[in-house]
Amino acid sequence: MNFKDLPLEAEMLTTLDSLGYTNATPIQAQTLPLILDGKDIIAEAKTGSGKTAAFGIGLLSKLDVKKFRVQSLVMCPTRELADQVAKELRRIARFKHNIKILMLTGGESFGRQLGSLSHQAHIIVGTPGRVLKHLNKESLELTNLQTLVLDEADRMLDMGFLEEVESVMAFTPKEKQTLLFSATYDNEVLAVSKRIQKDAVSVKTTQAEVANKIEEQFIATQNKEDSFVKILSERKPENVIVFTNTKIEAKELAENLQKRKIDAIAIHGDLEQYERNDVLVQFANKSCPILVATDVAARGLDIKELSMVVNYDIPHGTETYTHRIGRTARAGAEGVAITLYSAYEQEKADEYRSSERSFIEDAELKGSTNYELKPQFVTLVIEGGKKDKLRAGDLLGALTGDAGLKGSSIGKIDIYDRQAYVAIETKFIDNAHDALKRGKIKGKKFSVWIL
Ligand code: ADP
Ligand code: MG
Repeated sequence: MNFKDLPLEAEMLTTLDSLGYTNATPIQAQTLPLILDGKDIIAEAKTGSGKTAAFGIGLLSKLDVKKFRVQSLVMCPTRELADQVAKELRRIARFKHNIKILMLTGGESFGRQLGSLSHQAHIIVGTPGRVLKHLNKESLELTNLQTLVLDEADRMLDMGFLEEVESVMAFTPKEKQTLLFSATYDNEVLAVSKRIQKDAVSVKTTQAEVANKIEEQFIATQNKEDSFVKILSERKPENVIVFTNTKIEAKELAENLQKRKIDAIAIHGDLEQYERNDVLVQFANKSCPILVATDVAARGLDIKELSMVVNYDIPHGTETYTHRIGRTARAGAEGVAITLYSAYEQEKADEYRSSERSFIEDAELKGSTNYELKPQFVTLVIEGGKKDKLRAGDLLGALTGDAGLKGSSIGKIDIYDRQAYVAIETKFIDNAHDALKRGKIKGKKFSVWIL
């Protein structure tokens, strides 16, 4: 679709042309007519698909330049992303004179932002924490807001920003357009949409969800541990749940893997609730790629995007088997389910033979038994949480400000009543730890340790 087919101003078309944007990308073609029509939308499209211009062209077209009030607010999860969005909006905003776009993100001087705000702006691009701070201090007013955009909504939820986003919403007028953009789309994003949007139209340009495809493989082996390591080295899954039939086996396997420098943690019925939580947080935030679990311990565990499930033993019954392997291949992605069995389990394994399942021998595996697996992130625990009014923005602010980390080095943030967990890219963990230990968060000292 050509931008000329849309009801856009001539100057806008010229600007887009000068940027080399002749044809709308699919997400732009599908969302722009709706956005220009004033609809709330929830849009899912891959990274790099042109989402910024999709909402950017929309909100800039509606802007009344003569009215010096904030008419649009775009919230992004990190300063870097806000910066990218502001740059793209400024490029497109060249079509009209005097459009003022202001960035309000954490880690920058609050005083300078106060100064800029006193000169008024049309569009604010910011991170939820800092925007909220300005609203609370009454240095920002959103009573004339027409369009609210949540960019990278999935990542915003991952980083624990929901509360702040909802607090910001409370400062906006009821009648407005809310646009939600995301690279992935799951129940959490959908739930937020239901809460904050009105009859949102859903637009997806990622592949339509197909039935979950799971590759099922059975491997006959005399050494399960070696076979498992070979599988890891061959397939390099991002995260794996390994099921064992007993808790003793779960503990032993996790220990043995650790000895081989493969990062694994066991979850089983003997753990205290807080220990269980520590384990689940680490697995979900990519601080530990392998979780060894018993069926009971894995109950109620909701991990998105699990790449592989391994049955370390033939499960007791096909129902358990189906339940276990159903955890992989969520949301249309292909998953892998591997079942290891020894000579003793041959008979039970034979019951699983079918045309969809492949049966091979360990000798056919291509991987190596010399394989190490380190996590992408390490978890930092802060002994403070919701009860201390700690918010994701405060943690992010301390880490990107004092510790000098980039937003991209910070993963999932989970905030509980008395504790907060932040996933930090492994190579920056010492930096982050030292800075938080020495410095303050929200003007207070907290004890901080590495999980
Ligand atoms: P997303 O937010 O979906 O990850 P961006 O909005 O950052 O993607 O856009 C990715 C790149 O595509 C940017 O460099 C942007 O300038 C470019 N782009 C956006 N729309 C168009 C278009 N219609 N034609 C050509 N390039 C475009
Ligand atoms: Mg984007």
